[in-house]
Amino acid sequence: MEEGRKYRAIVTGGSRGIGKAILMELAKRNCESVMFSDIMVPDDDFEKHAAEIQKEIGIEGVKVYGFKADASKFDEAEATVQAANEKMGGVDILVNNAGITRDNLLLRMSEAEFDSVININLKSVFNYTKAAMKPMIKQRFGRIVNIASVVGLIGNPGQTNYAASKAGVIGFTKSVARELASRNVNVNAIAPGFIETNMTAKLNDQQREALLTNVPLKRMGQPEDIAKVVAFLCSPDADYMTGQVLAVDGGMVM
Ligand code: NAP
Repeated sequence: MEEGRKYRAIVTGGSRGIGKAILMELAKRNCESVMFSDIMVPDDDFEKHAAEIQKEIGIEGVKVYGFKADASKFDEAEATVQAANEKMGGVDILVNNAGITRDNLLLRMSEAEFDSVININLKSVFNYTKAAMKPMIKQRFGRIVNIASVVGLIGNPGQTNYAASKAGVIGFTKSVARELASRNVNVNAIAPGFIETNMTAKLNDQQREALLTNVPLKRMGQPEDIAKVVAFLCSPDADYMTGQVLAVDGGMVM
């Protein structure tokens, strides 16, 4: 990666939560243009939302684009990469961040709950990586960061679907890192611990307290804690890293 050069990034599920923090950090650190691809239900005004994020970033010259796409659909991932080519002139960085939870004990889990989590959390990573890798291979440069979870490393009762999807993301990351290394496309994963977003907002005080007993740093993470590590992996400082899984979790998994 060239020091000082400006890059173009796609962040799936980048309109809010961890994805938005990643989008903003990349824009502040090393990107000239960033695109979030999202479903944004029910607020469908992508242009307005992109303009608001651009204003929030507040750096002249940085462009923010929004593109409506369901990450679980391959043709919509291809359409996003095409839109990135048209609007930003290409794609150098891909962050596969879109994700959902549909928690239930396996005894009660429906097939729909299992399938939706696998499709949105894991198949989306296949969709976007496959769509974005061709231009990256051609230009002999790319950085891909996949957002997994500590749950993919250690499991969690009530989350067989989620843990399977995130463990899948980790296996996918290592395999594609081996396939693309010779083309200067580095692929790494981050395994966040408990981060304060809508996804964890459903936890009650008792559940939070119980979770924090397993976190040596004794606090939940903020989206920015993840965003900074993504930006590191997309910076020249990480040029010699590929196929790695970094746990950013306050010390939960060690
Ligand atoms: P969040 O606040 O719920 O945001 C999830 C994002 O994904 C939203 O922008 C959402 O879009 C988008 N999304 C959902 N389904 C989509 C689809 N089919 N196509 C495209 N985008 C879709 O969650 P978060 O906490 O920021 O999570 C971000 C990532 O971090 C996820 O992969 C999650 O598994 C992972 N993670 C989170 C934690 C945590 O503690 N928060 C821990 C470990 C890993 P809409 O706005 O349209 O719904």
